[in-house]
Amino acid sequence: MENTFYDLKELFQQSGCPICALKSSFEERYLDTLLYENVNDPKVRERIRSQNGFCQEHIQLIFQSRPSVLGISIIYDDLLRHHLQTDEKESKETVCPLCLAWKEKNRYIHTTLVKHWNDLKATYNTRLFFCPTHIKQYETDKIIYQDMNKLTKENLKKIGADLSSFIKKYDYRAKKDSITINEINSWQEVLEYFASRRLRNNRTHRPA
Ligand SMILES: [Zn+2]
Ligand SMILES: [Zn+2]
Repeated sequence: MENTFYDLKELFQQSGCPICALKSSFEERYLDTLLYENVNDPKVRERIRSQNGFCQEHIQLIFQSRPSVLGISIIYDDLLRHHLQTDEKESKETVCPLCLAWKEKNRYIHTTLVKHWNDLKATYNTRLFFCPTHIKQYETDKIIYQDMNKLTKENLKKIGADLSSFIKKYDYRAKKDSITINEINSWQEVLEYFASRRLRNNRTHRPA
């Protein structure tokens, strides 16, 4: 069976939205490959130029995660030179190459998830949820969509209970020592849910 299924299976055992987690590791791998291996390929740079570079969200990600400052500089040196040479009227629309690549990968994830849903939902972490953005993508898969909503609601209630407990303990200095890992995680999980984005770090940091 394909890797995506095993990745999903593993992520169903963890907290948070599994699709957000897949997106985050996909973006990480994409940028690593691009900035370390493909940056010197003129064809790759030509394609990025024709797409007018990355979208705001992915520029922010590139800026924050800075996988290779040299790679980023080479791509944007190229983009800037062409931008300055181009007539304002000719300015192109941005078709972010990372958004495009993710769209394709996400389509494949969708097919895999639908195909293996019963197997995947057989065991899941009690802090698993599907974020609003990704749950919406399953609207037409009626039964799966219902299951996703149900388990998301149930698990968010558990996370919410931890969040309330975290607030209470945080207020009283004496109780701070009794704050559990789940309580510490709860505010981060809730932010991820509302952001529809993996915020907890899964990147191993490298020096710039
Ligand atoms: Zn998500
Ligand atoms: Zn993008």
